[in-house]
Amino acid sequence: MITDNETITAVATPMGRGGVGIVRISGPLVGFIAGAVLGHVPQPRHAELLVFKGEEGETIDNGIALYFPAPHSFTGEDVLELQGHGGPMVMDMLLRRVMQLGARPARPGEFSLRAFMNNKIDLAQAEAIADLIDSASTQAARSAINSLQGEFSRQIHALVDKLIELRMYIEAAIDFPDEEIDFLNAGHIAERMQIIAAAILTIISAAQQGCLMRDGMTVVIAGRPNAGKSSLLNCLSLRDSAIVTDIPGTTRDVLHEQITIDGMPLHIIDTAGLHDSPDPVEQIGIGRAWEEISRADRVLLVIDDSESSSEEFVAQFEQQIAHQSYTLVRNKIDLTGKTAAIIKNQDSWEVVISARTGAGIDLLCSHLKECVGFKDGGEGTIIARRRHLDALDRARMYIHSAQQRLHERAGELVAEDLRQAQSALSEITGEFTSDDLLSKIFASFCIGK
Ligand code: GDP
Repeated sequence: MITDNETITAVATPMGRGGVGIVRISGPLVGFIAGAVLGHVPQPRHAELLVFKGEEGETIDNGIALYFPAPHSFTGEDVLELQGHGGPMVMDMLLRRVMQLGARPARPGEFSLRAFMNNKIDLAQAEAIADLIDSASTQAARSAINSLQGEFSRQIHALVDKLIELRMYIEAAIDFPDEEIDFLNAGHIAERMQIIAAAILTIISAAQQGCLMRDGMTVVIAGRPNAGKSSLLNCLSLRDSAIVTDIPGTTRDVLHEQITIDGMPLHIIDTAGLHDSPDPVEQIGIGRAWEEISRADRVLLVIDDSESSSEEFVAQFEQQIAHQSYTLVRNKIDLTGKTAAIIKNQDSWEVVISARTGAGIDLLCSHLKECVGFKDGGEGTIIARRRHLDALDRARMYIHSAQQRLHERAGELVAEDLRQAQSALSEITGEFTSDDLLSKIFASFCIGK
């Protein structure tokens, strides 16, 4: 059972001290709890300044109480919000009092789960709440709000409606075999399918953007000792997170840094210098560097442009790196007098920079965005997750298959493919989603949400 009929409670504001702290309660015992703690059930949706009372009638706190009777509440159940003073002790006393009266602690995301189960929001909207709270950039927050307000779901629903119409037509035609010939010949079926296929591609492109906005890309900085890897990390992150010296081998382990470029989170990983080292500690660091390289969305291979032996190293690296795509970063051009540039050689890229002066860093940032296809966010962007992209991709494949079946005049198979496409799309909004997946999604939310 993914939900029960118990009354749940949690502190909805972050732990710690603040002007206001909110205890949220949802479920059938709300009226009883309000009576015991406040002396009466507050007027629906009216802020009332009241004393919050303990078991013996003592004052725990005084603050604002807000009562939202079902179904007009966030969860769709009776909800009470007690807005007291935001100190850990006050919140704890209030929470304990509410639990003493029969509420149990809410699990992570349980308020949102109930909102979803009571059809107050769909799954994509529920996920957008978590993404809004976690957003790492203004653009990500804007996109999450768009998804929360139902923009993404509306696009999915519009597609599902088109699919339903088409399915009804095709399934009716199958039921009346005399007319099936007509339906298979009717050109507008192919046309309508093509419109749906194009609409899915448009949403996939928006969802890819939304996914990048949420998850970003992982960039690994690799190269020989002293090439300027740590300097590049510091330059990108605009702070001294890595130690920069001219002593080779300063970075012995991997260093992580998170920045955003134009709204896209960038997870940057600085690695130990790649070279033959007899030092066992360095060897471990180098082993880890290779592991990170194999997992990266993009590798930046940094070389010292003033060193003639760098080219040889690049040739060796290329052999070792196999299929991983990388960008060659020629660093220290302040020493060689070159101008910052970005160069495309057949299918490889070179960016010419100076981590010391910052020349070419803007080119490198634009290049990284281009590598993953990130476009600067405009209005109407949506936030999306990997699971949405997977579902959209499955829908795209089923539509493609339906188009082929139509060509082969296999009516029943067309109908089945369209049904599968519809069910893949409905997974996004949560109409056909297993309890296991729902539990997993909501468990990643914070408590009180
Ligand atoms: P890492 O070992 O690859 O991480 O290299 P570091 O970032 O520690 O840099 C090694 C040395 O090169 C340091 O003395 C840096 O100040 C210097 N360095 C890094 N980038 C540049 C650059 O663009 N120009 C110049 N002139 N020196 C640089």
